Amino acid sequence: MTPAIDLHTHSTASDGTLTPAELVRAAADAGLDVVAITDHDTTAGWDTALAALPPGLTLVRGAELSCRWHGVDPAVPLHLLAYLFDPGHPELADELARVRAARQVRGERIVRLLQADGIDISWTEIITAAGGGTVGRPHIAAALVRANLVASTTEAFEPDWLGERYRLPKEDIDVFRAVALVRAAGGVPVFAHPRATRRGRIVPDELIVELAGAGLAGLEADHEDHTPTEAAHVRALAAELGLLVTGSSDFHGTHKTVRLGAHTTAGEAYERLVAQARGVTPVASG
Ligand code: AMP
Ligand code: ZN
Ligand code: FE
Ligand code: FE
Repeated sequence: MTPAIDLHTHSTASDGTLTPAELVRAAADAGLDVVAITDHDTTAGWDTALAALPPGLTLVRGAELSCRWHGVDPAVPLHLLAYLFDPGHPELADELARVRAARQVRGERIVRLLQADGIDISWTEIITAAGGGTVGRPHIAAALVRANLVASTTEAFEPDWLGERYRLPKEDIDVFRAVALVRAAGGVPVFAHPRATRRGRIVPDELIVELAGAGLAGLEADHEDHTPTEAAHVRALAAELGLLVTGSSDFHGTHKTVRLGAHTTAGEAYERLVAQARGVTPVASG
């Protein structure tokens, strides 16, 4: 039987709604053989996910790094999945801490903008609900839903709300620096949803060619934000550049509708990924 491998999920350590322990249990219940925990800009969920690992499930420890490409003006934000890196690597850990701190400042500024327009939501309440997890727009979206100002997270991300009008840039990591740091920390960098046009601007293929030369290991092709045509394009580009291809759910609990295992990664690509890792290893339970 081919294993079910989902390499991109979020917990309450960032903007997911299941705790890391609940996440690994849900992954086992969903029939997954391998799951990666990839919270935004943090490794805070790793230990509790490991401690709760159910029998038969393998945990891949990772993170999704907030990056930016400065090759055009304004710079383009993008996400880099980083797998099996050493979480104690000082420069990488410093960058993650810096981005998390900047997310707090930015989140509060977004809330102040909303409040200035008479929208009654509370930053303290949002921070409390985030429970120490990396703060992101989904936490603000949840507050808008709780206040009955929008009907759903999806609506909260429309242009009149967090998608554009109340969207502020983050302080991200330069993407070339991020790829270099992930490799330096023994990790494996994979470009997350590179053609997700529905989320905003995307980068040109030329950048991906450059990143492949700079140490990028793979591209995430199968993702709910890619149309079949976009996924096929990513797969063809990966083949051309000798990069591995991943697929994943990008599960966020009830902050999104996608289910665990909605998209998966082939065993062969997973093996190639693990073979490149020098930071930490996948952990199998039972
Ligand atoms: P942030 O990192 O604060 O800029 O927020 C971006 C996060 O919001 C992404 O990682 C997704 O989890 C989520 N997100 C982005 N667009 C949407 C959308 N249209 N609907 C629901 N969630 C979204
Ligand atoms: Zn997210
Ligand atoms: Fe992402
Ligand atoms: Fe994600």
